[in-house]
Amino acid sequence: MRNQRNRTIRAIAALACVASLSLHGQSLAAHKTQRVIWVMTDGLRWQEVFQGAEPALMNKENGVSNPEALKKDFWRESAEDRRKALMPFLWTKVAKDGQLYGNRMLGSEASVTNGLNFSYPGYNESLTGAADPRIDSNDKKYNPNVTVLEWLHGKPSFKGKVAAFGAWDVFPFIFNAPRAGFPVNAGYDPMEGFAGNPVMKTLNDLKADSPRDWDDEPFDNLTFHTALEYLKQRRPRLMYLSLGETDDWAHAGKYGEYLRSTQRADQYLKTLWETLQSMAEYRGVTALIFSPDHGRGVGSEWRSHGQKIPESKYIWMAFLGPDTPALGERANIAPVKQSQIAATLTALLGEDYHATVPASGAPIDDVIHPAGGRP
Ligand SMILES: [Zn+2]
Repeated sequence: MRNQRNRTIRAIAALACVASLSLHGQSLAAHKTQRVIWVMTDGLRWQEVFQGAEPALMNKENGVSNPEALKKDFWRESAEDRRKALMPFLWTKVAKDGQLYGNRMLGSEASVTNGLNFSYPGYNESLTGAADPRIDSNDKKYNPNVTVLEWLHGKPSFKGKVAAFGAWDVFPFIFNAPRAGFPVNAGYDPMEGFAGNPVMKTLNDLKADSPRDWDDEPFDNLTFHTALEYLKQRRPRLMYLSLGETDDWAHAGKYGEYLRSTQRADQYLKTLWETLQSMAEYRGVTALIFSPDHGRGVGSEWRSHGQKIPESKYIWMAFLGPDTPALGERANIAPVKQSQIAATLTALLGEDYHATVPASGAPIDDVIHPAGGRP
């Protein structure tokens, strides 16, 4: 009897082990994500993402021409209401069905690891999964590193199905476009290869003849709508879009424009998501990632960022998609790093970038494992 019971216990233990193995196999094989859209917006602070508009900055000293009108649009008593007024898609859809990292008030910290806290180092860290001390300026130098887009594009199942759009004209260098082999449309460059497409023609015309506030990038609407039209026409499996106004308006010291460009970025996410859900290839199999390249200073230093402003290393990240458990705004969790986004993206697609590039940050487990599905 005793032996029988031991045998039974051993048999149950063996069965449990097999079940656990197959569960693990299933969770890897059964990932639903087939496509990823990654949007970055330059230098948007975690403070606005999680707390909404900052009252001490909504005034003429911070470049707001009509503080009353701005407050009407963005000032609410609670941080929850303010952030929802600023970024309604993030705080209704993503907070409900996805995950948000970086609210330091709740014990969730996200940061860059490159130590420089400015753009090219931050895009390089995000896109390759590792900080590189050689990337120490915003100069137009071809990136010696391979981005995760180029890595995926090298696989037959992604060949010809990757595209990148950046408001900033340094992106062809960040992606090393001549080597990477996928389209990288940036700055004021027209989108080539769409002869006969009236939408793209109009966008290219507007890029050419709009007034220019900044030499190195147009307003985000032109870049966004170029990417949106590309998405509808070419249906890439992996599309990257970088917006620039949030950084430019902050450097210009115009807090109102900074808030309004933040709100437009959120609106672009909503438009992208709704467009994706209306297309059979994307519906239910597409993940959305949203992140910045760096943070900014606090208080009067909100305009700037960099090595001399340590607070500008803090960032935020958002994930929404079929394999990401709906854990919403994260609290009291281990810190996450900008260097982890690249491997998280590939893990969502069932590819192991971190194994191929061990210097890259590991995937963020909670983003890729179905709730309760991890043995
Ligand atoms: Zn900047």
